[in-house]
Amino acid sequence: MSLTRRGFLAASGTTALGGLLAKLGLDLGPSVAHAEALKTRYAKESTTICPYCGVGCGLIISTMNRNVINVEGDPDHPINKGSLCCKGQSLYQVATSPRRMTKVLYRPPRGSQWQEVSWEWAISRIADRAKETRDHTFTGKDEKGRVVNRTHAMAALGGAALDNEECYLYGKLMRALGLVFIEHQARI
Ligand code: SF4
Repeated sequence: MSLTRRGFLAASGTTALGGLLAKLGLDLGPSVAHAEALKTRYAKESTTICPYCGVGCGLIISTMNRNVINVEGDPDHPINKGSLCCKGQSLYQVATSPRRMTKVLYRPPRGSQWQEVSWEWAISRIADRAKETRDHTFTGKDEKGRVVNRTHAMAALGGAALDNEECYLYGKLMRALGLVFIEHQARI
């Protein structure tokens, strides 16, 4: 077999590199891959929107026995095309964290301790106070006699956990009450 100078250098370089890698304990031989079964294989998939910010990335939520087992970006969603920022990637914890709030806590005026209260009590209390404030501050007409039907004594701040339809209803309700200071957390 004839060996050119270029072939000799290439062969000897390859041999030297192979010897070096062997000394370093590196094996370049083919390895056997073992694919693990997807944990979402038998899960039910539902699509939704990330509640954290105004970008509105699409998500796929995988649930099994009504428990969330995985959250990932939706590759078919036109906004994020499957990608998520670090907040979206940690969204799984919103459903699974043991620190998640599951009860209503109330701290009375000048109180220093939180009290556990029922949803019925809290909603009734909020409604009472909203009505009381609105009744005392509602303005039908401004100083020029123009109909305004508003109150400046209350403000509304929507949360990013609300979806489109909830935001629509929320905005409708607040405007019906006469609020003009209506904002959303995702815009701040
Ligand atoms: S994944 Fe990140 S960028 Fe997308 S909506 Fe959620 S918080 Fe916003």
